[in-house]
Amino acid sequence: MGHHMAQDQRFRAPRGTYDVLPPESWQWLALMRTALDTFARAGYRPIETPMFEHTEVFERGVGATSEVVTKQMYTFTDRGGRSLTLRPELTAGVVRAVVEHDLGRGSLPVKLAYAGPMFRQERPQKGRYRQFWQVGIEALGSDEPDVDAEIVEVGDRFLRSCGLEPTLVLNSIGHPDESCRLGYNKVLGEFLDENRDALAPEDRARIATNPLRTFDSKEARTIEVMTRAPLISEFICDACRSHFEAVKHSLSVLDVAFTIDPRLVRGLDYYTRTAFEFVSEGLGSQNAVGGGGRYDGLSEQLGGPPLPAIGFSLGVDRILLARGESAEKFAVPGVSVYVVALGATARSRALSLATELRRAGIGADLDLAGRGMKGQMKDAARSGARWAAIVGEKELAAGEVTLRDLESGEQERVPLTGVVGKVQA
Ligand code: AMP
Repeated sequence: MGHHMAQDQRFRAPRGTYDVLPPESWQWLALMRTALDTFARAGYRPIETPMFEHTEVFERGVGATSEVVTKQMYTFTDRGGRSLTLRPELTAGVVRAVVEHDLGRGSLPVKLAYAGPMFRQERPQKGRYRQFWQVGIEALGSDEPDVDAEIVEVGDRFLRSCGLEPTLVLNSIGHPDESCRLGYNKVLGEFLDENRDALAPEDRARIATNPLRTFDSKEARTIEVMTRAPLISEFICDACRSHFEAVKHSLSVLDVAFTIDPRLVRGLDYYTRTAFEFVSEGLGSQNAVGGGGRYDGLSEQLGGPPLPAIGFSLGVDRILLARGESAEKFAVPGVSVYVVALGATARSRALSLATELRRAGIGADLDLAGRGMKGQMKDAARSGARWAAIVGEKELAAGEVTLRDLESGEQERVPLTGVVGKVQA
């Protein structure tokens, strides 16, 4: 190992993580900002929760039998001996915060939005990372079908505003009661038992613990078996069925197109009733850009009051991948003026001029590496600035600068004191 370090002392980012570098970093931040703007315009206000929670929040929230909890969590013991986990998703943390601060006491539903990094120890591939970013919203405290429709429409509209044309896939997975999903689980469990030998070996183990999840299998053998499996749509109770009918009706009224897939189950244990996913072309096997659903029992599972709720999260990394190169860029702030200085005296004035512009709220940059005229003009063009403010000995002697419009190529002499006014106009 020592030998290896001597050969190459440079570090790399940990496997499955990546650095977000300029200029893409702006697009990436602007996407999250745009998401929060869109969500705020529908009444969802931002919440920030810690990057890590007590491990139990996820065990009890996300569910002890889910892949995320059993295989993917970054769990560690801190110096105080507590078991903590980097958040693999945000819904459990949001519900923990809502319960802790009793936000359900106010007017309902509580509508919250977020944007931030999540952590899962998955096998890295295109569109699947160990640190990835999500934007999402949650509405807690109402079981009205119109909340489901609102949430789904906001997600769909945001993705379309990003240039995606996602397919919205919808299902109802009922609620955990013998008259509903638990009854179905028994029937499905029996079916899976009967077909045990035909399933991929890795899918046999969870028949008893979480039969529904078999629909998520990527194994060809299992997928074939599941085409013949009994479907949950035949088994959900009347209340869940009429809720689902009302959600579909609302979405039709809102002109939101959807496809019903009775095999869509979603990966986390807390989901009840409405489950949905946004699927996008051009992402290969990681084609889900986002998903969500109801989680009517989660608050109680985390020790809170009954707070029927629904939310979604969308993968920022995948939205950017699906947008591709051709998509229209988000507008981002930049530099309006690039100060070009020629000669020692002018150079000594360049930073003052740039600072004066910045103090007036105008983006300004300059050469700080002693480049010549040609190099500085190149940098000016590269900076994206609209103007080059050129200060040479002649200009300086006259107390002026040459202000060149880099778009039209036109230029004029302006008094040093008039640059701010000119650019602002
Ligand atoms: P989930 O709730 O697990 O379905 O995650 C919601 C969305 O987050 C997915 O549709 C992806 O867009 C994104 N996502 C989940 N896991 C990852 C990951 N490991 N890397 C990148 N994006 C992810």
